[in-house]
Amino acid sequence: MSKTKSEQIFERACRVIPGGVNSPVRAFGSIGGTPRMICRADGAYMTDEDGNEYLDFVGSWGPMILGHNHPEVREAVVKACENGLSYGAATLREVEMAELICGAVPNVDMVRMVNSGTEAVMSAIRAARGYTGRDKIIKFMGCYHGHSDALLVQAGSGVMTAGIPDSAGVPQGCTKDTLSAVYNDVSSAERLFEAFPEEIAAVIVEPVGANMGVVPPQPGFLESLRSLCTKYGAVLIFDEVITGFRLGFTGAQGYFHVDADLVTYGKIIGAGMPVGAYGGKREIMERVAPVGPVYQAGTLSGNPVAMAAGLTQLTILRDHPEIYEELNKKSEWFYAEVRRIMEEKGEEACVNSCASLGCAFFTKTPVVNYETAKTSDTSRYAAYFRHMLSHGIYIAPSQFEAMFLSAAHTQEELERVLEIMRAF
Ligand SMILES: *Cc1c(COP(=O)(O)O)cnc(C)c1O
Repeated sequence: MSKTKSEQIFERACRVIPGGVNSPVRAFGSIGGTPRMICRADGAYMTDEDGNEYLDFVGSWGPMILGHNHPEVREAVVKACENGLSYGAATLREVEMAELICGAVPNVDMVRMVNSGTEAVMSAIRAARGYTGRDKIIKFMGCYHGHSDALLVQAGSGVMTAGIPDSAGVPQGCTKDTLSAVYNDVSSAERLFEAFPEEIAAVIVEPVGANMGVVPPQPGFLESLRSLCTKYGAVLIFDEVITGFRLGFTGAQGYFHVDADLVTYGKIIGAGMPVGAYGGKREIMERVAPVGPVYQAGTLSGNPVAMAAGLTQLTILRDHPEIYEELNKKSEWFYAEVRRIMEEKGEEACVNSCASLGCAFFTKTPVVNYETAKTSDTSRYAAYFRHMLSHGIYIAPSQFEAMFLSAAHTQEELERVLEIMRAF
């Protein structure tokens, strides 16, 4: 059989790009097969180089909440390009972007734009450390906060173990101040605070775990982290790179009614352009250069084309609150149906969801943290993935990623997806 174009291009890719991909999550290693080379996307669909069309549930890993190639976003980008691609100087649009975010999100008095989620988190941690004068941070196992050295810690099973780097090339010294706790287990964080009452600068958490599959916070979890941080004088950082402007316009703080001190953004905030941001309480953000001693910079930060894309998407979302209402309602129905189908079929599965984020874990264990997520049968997921892909449904090529519903997915399309699931 002759090779598909995707296969041919992937062969070329593997010769010149590590693993043939520019981000490991795009590889098909855990589910088998060759990554599809995508050449265009529109609404809820993506098309590959062979002309195959897929109904897409990855949405560029979150940014495409309005669907791909939204006409208003595209027009704003094209228009911005006509005025030049970058100035390395201040612009009006950055101010409008900051005003929009600060005007909408609780506890965000000031915001700094950066170029990725990784950069946003790395910078927020630095700001928290600069503000508190402390070094240690607490993160939760299974939460992903980008690939900066200090945060690449999974830390095995021991809660009290100081950070073991998760990646080659990360010096032990970079992770020695990273403490790992168990998601949805407040006592594990509390014990760390008791052990280091005056050394912990920040607690960073994905308010909805969305990088170990989807793991929503149990009632009281985020609230208790808030109390712990207040009690011990630590900064609570919500990593909202996925949840920001997805759960609703006010993000996880609004959705769960819990206040954070700093928040980080990425993905949706750039509408598909490489953008991140971190922001929060004025007294913390005023520690950032050039007003404060915490240095952080970026040649292309606040890039005019990227800002045009992000600002347009956020403005649409702000002006049309019904988008969230409809998306979240549609999603609740959809994931309930997925749950029902798995039950009917006697599949050993745990379907977790929160707003438009969802995930079917192939395990009978309720998934509440990293340990339980890991009980999933990944070969079963691989078979499920291949079944879906062969029917034109593009879901994440890994058990431990979310499914992203967007405003562009119609009821009819979702019903079709459920039929295909039923046939698995
Ligand atoms: C994707 C992600 C990041 C990293 O963002 P990049 O833009 O890939 O650097 C950080 N935190 C969370 C929660 C993410 O999902």
